[in-house]
Amino acid sequence: MEIKTLVLGHIHTNCYLVSTDKAAIVIDPAFKSAAVDDFLLQNSDKERLILLTHAHFDHIGAAPFLRENTGVKIGVGEFDNADLSDPAVNLSDRFHAHIPPFSADITFSDGEEFSVGDVNIKVLHTPGHTVGSVCYLTDNVLFAGDTLFYESIGRTDFPKSNHFDMMKSLSRLLNLDGNIRVLSGHGPETNIEHEKIYNPFI
Ligand SMILES: [Zn+2]
Repeated sequence: MEIKTLVLGHIHTNCYLVSTDKAAIVIDPAFKSAAVDDFLLQNSDKERLILLTHAHFDHIGAAPFLRENTGVKIGVGEFDNADLSDPAVNLSDRFHAHIPPFSADITFSDGEEFSVGDVNIKVLHTPGHTVGSVCYLTDNVLFAGDTLFYESIGRTDFPKSNHFDMMKSLSRLLNLDGNIRVLSGHGPETNIEHEKIYNPFI
């Protein structure tokens, strides 16, 4: 599995391009980028999917356009789907992001497992930063969105955020295998073991 990281937009959102012989997956398309469109278009012979970790403007902004340009479906956690079209909750209003209201094609519940080509993915519902934040676990890689960062955690002062839920979600993540790589929505890569020891918020 090859993972390419693109850092997009003024708040440096990580967009991940995941590919294998049989799969091409975009995780958090963030802001419009020709490189992301090209990735899906050039891999049209593979099974493809756009995954969103949560419904905040800096992760979802390009998603409806990317779907329109490529015909690839969008998946999101079930409890964040409605907020893709709520500019107050997805912060599109506050940051003048002008994201057209849209819905995902697929919604995921906690513990659900699915595959894209030869990539098997498990969904972990990790509320706190948003009500419907999810992490996507595949092999030894966790795409953590804005739940867990390198020596930090996601903010819980946004509409529908909940600090108590966040603490429960984090303790769940820290019970995963220590060797699991953590690829977050912002900032550098980390792993579970490192965060168990050094994360000052946990
Ligand atoms: Zn966020």
